[in-house]
Amino acid sequence: MQRKFLAPALILVALLTLLAFLGMRAASSAPAMSLAEEQKEVYLTFDDGPSTVVTSRVLDTLKEENVPATFFIVSDRVEGREEVLKRIAAEGHTLGVHSASHDYARIYASDASLLKDISSCAACISRVTGIVPKVYRFPGGGMGDMAHRRALVKKQGYRIVQWNAVCGDEEIWHASADTLVKETVKTSQGKQPVVLLLHDSASHKATAEALPGIIAYFRENGYLFCKF
Ligand SMILES: [Zn+2]
Repeated sequence: MQRKFLAPALILVALLTLLAFLGMRAASSAPAMSLAEEQKEVYLTFDDGPSTVVTSRVLDTLKEENVPATFFIVSDRVEGREEVLKRIAAEGHTLGVHSASHDYARIYASDASLLKDISSCAACISRVTGIVPKVYRFPGGGMGDMAHRRALVKKQGYRIVQWNAVCGDEEIWHASADTLVKETVKTSQGKQPVVLLLHDSASHKATAEALPGIIAYFRENGYLFCKF
């Protein structure tokens, strides 16, 4: 190489090295960033079970679709349905405490009655499945001095789980499965993560019917299914 070409050649090499370095940085950082930005999450949460027909049907769908969920149990409904409760645990879903009686007047009468309701439900879940529940959902979403009550429940070691989207199975009277799917889509817009409230007590056959459509919607829209 002639001496007069040496300086421009060195500048060219330096430029190419810089471009290659910047390109590598872009390539290595781009996927991680887009993954973090795009990964949407949904938690399917079922309250007020177990029931024989509806909970079993919900579990069949979750198994077929390989989707995890969280079940907030009403322990006064467990007697005679112990196998349903065991199946929830055996299939890898989370069991949470919802209530023993689901009777708001009794539960929220005092701090002592709230704590008794929780411990009675937790004891039932442990007795039947051997699992010590770690998550809790207030019946009716809670009542009275909630800052005080939340602190009380947290002191017992529970993580409190509420919701930010509904399928409408309690809000819309006699809703069809199709309506429940639409309500799910509507109320989960802009939520990250989505914590969807559904019910698996005996009267909620339409919820079990809607579940495949609800799962399909979240799957088609790139959501990751999570449990608490
Ligand atoms: Zn409830």
